Amino acid sequence: MHELSIVANLFDLLEEQAEKVGAKKITLVKIKVGVLSGVVPELLQTAFDIYKKDTLASEAELIIEKVPLRMVCRQCHQETIRDDIILSCAHCGSTQLEKKEGTELILEKVELEIDE
Ligand SMILES: [Zn+2]
Repeated sequence: MHELSIVANLFDLLEEQAEKVGAKKITLVKIKVGVLSGVVPELLQTAFDIYKKDTLASEAELIIEKVPLRMVCRQCHQETIRDDIILSCAHCGSTQLEKKEGTELILEKVELEIDE
């Protein structure tokens, strides 16, 4: 499962951040997943739940925000937004499109609990 290695990398990043600020717990993680990122949100959630045990994030909530595909047509210059991966212009049917959004996989937000 491709998502498991993504989650492994994510946890490296999370634990590094938590350590830097002396956090004892990670309470919330928010990730933006573009429809063209190659990541299946449901599998990412499953991988996260498997991986988080015995980590600082064992009680963390994962929020996945799906980012639709936003493209601008090179023919008619109109914008097409899709939540599937059909790569054609909704206005003229052209496949000459410039992808603006929807390919990303971004760690958007992390909430930590810091021991005072
Ligand atoms: Zn078009």
